[in-house]
Amino acid sequence: MIKIKTLGGYSKIGKSMTAIEVDGDIVITDMGADIERLIDYEDEKANISVADSDALIKNGVIPDDTDFFREHGKNVKAIVLTHGHLDHIWAVPFLAKKYMCPIISTHFTAKIIEHVARNAKQKDLKIVKLNTGNKYKLSENISIELVHITHSIPQTAIVVIHTAYGAILYANDWKFDNTPTLGKKPDYERLEQLSKEGIHTFISDSTNADKEGYTFSEIVVRTMLEDVIKKTLNNKTIFVTTFSSHIARIKNIVEISRKTGRRVLIFGRSMDMYIKAAVESGIIEKSTLPQVALKRDQIDGLMRYVKTKPGKYLIICTGHQGERGAFLDKLVTGQYEYKLSRDDAVIFSSRTIPTPLNMANRAMLQNALTDLNVDVADEVHVSGHASKNDHKMMIKMLKPKHYIPSHGGIEKLTAAIETAKEFGYELGKTSHLLLDNQEIVFD
Ligand SMILES: [Zn+2]
Repeated sequence: MIKIKTLGGYSKIGKSMTAIEVDGDIVITDMGADIERLIDYEDEKANISVADSDALIKNGVIPDDTDFFREHGKNVKAIVLTHGHLDHIWAVPFLAKKYMCPIISTHFTAKIIEHVARNAKQKDLKIVKLNTGNKYKLSENISIELVHITHSIPQTAIVVIHTAYGAILYANDWKFDNTPTLGKKPDYERLEQLSKEGIHTFISDSTNADKEGYTFSEIVVRTMLEDVIKKTLNNKTIFVTTFSSHIARIKNIVEISRKTGRRVLIFGRSMDMYIKAAVESGIIEKSTLPQVALKRDQIDGLMRYVKTKPGKYLIICTGHQGERGAFLDKLVTGQYEYKLSRDDAVIFSSRTIPTPLNMANRAMLQNALTDLNVDVADEVHVSGHASKNDHKMMIKMLKPKHYIPSHGGIEKLTAAIETAKEFGYELGKTSHLLLDNQEIVFD
């Protein structure tokens, strides 16, 4: 018997957490935060620790696993994490320990979780580091395998649960990048092999399932960035803001800057965290990227020098969503000595995640930049999530018996269900629309 229970990430994006039961043994995949609610909570309370776990559940920041734990906690054999985005791993230090089972992830993901745990004063959290391509036996009924897939953060994995009924694949999040600029392309060979062996259920990211076409490769953004950076007038200082976890993007920006004769500086606390994790897990050499300057006087000192060398610097920084407290926000609100002017250009290598808070923050940031006469280039970016045609490719390749979209909200889930219909999947029989805190049983 297979039972799948959705604990978070189905009714809306965020708080990803799913419990997959096979003949009484349970694997939990992902344990994330609702990022919007987390930002709200952080506004009220600066230092969040494990002592806040109940309050975090109550405020909807992390999944509510209270009832699930009471009923099934002792049957959980492992918690497996797909990748290091906070909507997939942030809740680990707050929820995982009580299950008394191994926590499994790739090396880079483990480094991010360890960092979040340290911040939450959860000292003795141990993570089993499993490379993609490797298996881990959990019980007589199940073993775990991680299969390499591309996304927008290094070492993303599809979790494969091997069972007597066939494999269960949990793919949150993914895109097909056949020309990634860091790391390998998806492990198609292994996915095809798993398809031949028989896939019982495929649980899939559906974030962009309603978007026509294919999601472009990261190599496209590299070209776009090179174009924009070269076009920027050579008397201007360039600021590029992007996702701190997107190590491939950051590495590309550094390489392009150096190629175009600009020196690079990197600012922002989360940049520092993700870059350190990438170095520690052997993804990039320490010498590849400059050290991130964190202290205010250090930043002011460096920026004083930048002001004297117009056109000679490119600064990679946080703040692309207009979020308060990030480098770009502090810069436009005058919290550093450096004053932005017509001598500066800001490139957003990002897309504003369309939540009311982000849209408002981003509009305010845009207005401030316009008032300061700063050149702006927006959306020099491609998504880390598969589009409709990619979903078709994946379903056609895997041929699962059952298809369950996740990571969406009803509109995205419905779009994914519609796509699956083209391949003969019938809603309620072979494709299943689950919202949070629902379950489905396969006898
Ligand atoms: Zn992600």
